[in-house]
Amino acid sequence: MTPTPPWLAASTAKLGAAHRRGRLPHALLIHEDPGAGAEWLAGWAAQLALCQDSARAPCGTCRGCERAGALLHPDLMLVRPLEDSRQIRIEQVRELSAELALTSHGGGYKVGIIAPADALNRFAANALLKTLEEPPERTLLVLTATQPSRLPATIISRCQRLRVRAPERAQSVAWLTATRGAGDWNAALDALGEAPLLAAQADPQALAALSADTRRTLEALAAGSTDPVAAAERWARADLPLRLLCFENWLTERIRLGAGSAAFLAEMRAAPYLSEGGAFLNIRGLFGLVDEVRDLRATLDVPLNRGLALESLFRRLTPADGARSGGQG
Ligand SMILES: [Zn+2]
Repeated sequence: MTPTPPWLAASTAKLGAAHRRGRLPHALLIHEDPGAGAEWLAGWAAQLALCQDSARAPCGTCRGCERAGALLHPDLMLVRPLEDSRQIRIEQVRELSAELALTSHGGGYKVGIIAPADALNRFAANALLKTLEEPPERTLLVLTATQPSRLPATIISRCQRLRVRAPERAQSVAWLTATRGAGDWNAALDALGEAPLLAAQADPQALAALSADTRRTLEALAAGSTDPVAAAERWARADLPLRLLCFENWLTERIRLGAGSAAFLAEMRAAPYLSEGGAFLNIRGLFGLVDEVRDLRATLDVPLNRGLALESLFRRLTPADGARSGGQG
């Protein structure tokens, strides 16, 4: 078991205390900021319920903890979106419910993790509701979500909610250094946003390089010194999901730096792309772009011409022909 990320310690303490009092809820909804650790916490809760040493649960060393930690426990089921889709389908929920209704292999709890629950489609959510309304004894259902508002209110109201917020940058960096070793974790978090659990799975050096390259491209596009078609083709070929995340963070950063400040407006006015005829990239424009980048990220599994979709985004960043500083026609 990896050491508890310090910003999750209050949550584990709360769950542990509930378990010791025999008051573990049937259903838990962990609402996290992206990459803040909901899945880690779900795994921890599974170990808590499946540990064989109830006085020290989760002990981290018994057979129950080890198997649950490796997601190989016969009383633990993990439901994720199927590989070819972003949705969790009704068949998956029915299978989970049928499994939860059976007696546990180990004579204790049965645990189901749905991650992320905001990927449940409408039919799957309805099917899940039946299980939430009449949960079998000694079952624990853990749902993770970054956008719980996408879940039906009937589901939310039947879960105990736990909020997990992204930690401060310094805390993330300290935890990443302690668990993964030294690395440019600041650059990794710049690229991914404040998502330490996501960063923990990444190679910080490769991520920093990709992030730097992505930023260079975006700056060059905004200055009109690189060709949107070539840039779009290059991005579409490799690492697109990560590049889009970097793109989104780059835009959000500009909004954060600039919101309401006179300096920002002056800078924007001075920028070449605000010359006559140029794209008017004000704050509203930046927000619009953030939405479009998110939309593109959400539809990466849909077969469409990604190069073309990117190119159209890039053109919004790029000054109109007359205002370009570079020589590309
Ligand atoms: Zn244990």
